[in-house]
This record gives sequence, structure tokens and C-alpha cells, in this order.
Amino acid sequence: MPPTVNADAEDRSPNKIYPPWNDETVDALNLYQKEGEFHPFTCGQGAKGAHVGGISLVATAAGWHCPVGTCYYTQNWAWTFMAGKNSDPPPGVS
Ligand SMILES: [Zn+2]
Repeated sequence: MPPTVNADAEDRSPNKIYPPWNDETVDALNLYQKEGEFHPFTCGQGAKGAHVGGISLVATAAGWHCPVGTCYYTQNWAWTFMAGKNSDPPPGVS
């Protein structure tokens, strides 16, 4: 697929993976969040109440979610490298 330059280009990046994620991928993503050589994904709700300092998102088979009980924030993509996969097709994609 040739690279395209438009507003949606980032969301179509082959460097991203999308749910559903298998157990292996979920574990890898959560490990990444914990050991974070880079800054972990944090809740997009920003610094509000329980979110002061940033809340690291938690990966599940259905994608990321904020661990704060009253927060609805979710995110449906991750960087491929976060799952430790360089060239494999994204899990769940056939
Ligand atoms: Zn949140």
C-alpha cells in the first residue's frame, strides 16, 4: 500500500495495532506500560481529580481503558513496537 498524506494518515499507520488483542499482546502492552522505556499511554482526560499526574492506561483484549472507575476513557490503538512485534501482522487481523 503506497503511503498517503492526509489527515487520516496517522490512524492508518501500519505501525499501529488495533484490538481485538490476544493475551500475548495484552501482556506485552501492559508490561510496556509498567516498565516504560518510553512514556506510557495515559488517560486522555488529563489532569482532573484522580488523574493528577497522569493515569497509565490498561490494555485489555478490547483495547485500552482508564483504570479509574468513574472514567470512560478508552483508546483503540497501540504502537506495534509496544507489543514487541516488528513485522508480524497485527493480532486479530486476517
Ligand atoms: Zn481516565
